[in-house]
Amino acid sequence: MARYHLSVCRLCRREGLKLFLKGDRCFKETCAFEKRAYAPGQHGRRRRKKTQGYGLQLREKQKVKRIYGLLERQFHNTFLASARSRGVTGETLLTFLELRLDAIIYRLGFSASRPQARQLVRHGHVLVNGRKVNIPSFRVRKGDSITLAEKAKKNVFVQSAVAAAQGRGVPAWLDLDPEGFRGAVKNLPVREDIPMPIQEQLIVELYSK
Ligand code: SF4
Repeated sequence: MARYHLSVCRLCRREGLKLFLKGDRCFKETCAFEKRAYAPGQHGRRRRKKTQGYGLQLREKQKVKRIYGLLERQFHNTFLASARSRGVTGETLLTFLELRLDAIIYRLGFSASRPQARQLVRHGHVLVNGRKVNIPSFRVRKGDSITLAEKAKKNVFVQSAVAAAQGRGVPAWLDLDPEGFRGAVKNLPVREDIPMPIQEQLIVELYSK
């Protein structure tokens, strides 16, 4: 499957926002966005024209896609699923994105970044209700319990991610037992639980054209 292979820091600079794709480095002064908070490329320093209409909607969609590390088709399918569900489509879209197994592993602090969380899942280190699940897009439900396999608990990257995440805290809709590397979904996340600067309505408008 096609994936993005250039520096992910370019994506933050393109979106004009820290997307936290590199783990610990995102919280240090070596963060590329802290050093060069302008778009990448030869003309990146030029003052950007204020984007409106379609351009604005497209940028918002690209930003959310990049935060969660999805390709266009995966993202669009998630949008279609949210449009078919009850509730406000834009908010449901964000809820579905947060309920992806890789996103929950990241939120629980078992990984330093979403790409690392995806790798943990892909390599079979994650159990949902005691059963191995190796599909990053697996949608976790309310009441599900998520644990790491024994081998992953001893992994130094996982241990340092858990230690670093202690300071950041865990969202109120999740339960975490850091010693047991165990988490659970207490409630489904609502819009207020997702404190990211996202204007989801713009994405709905884009896909409704
Ligand atoms: Fe973005 Fe993290 Fe790179 Fe900073 S270090 S530019 S937040 S990916």
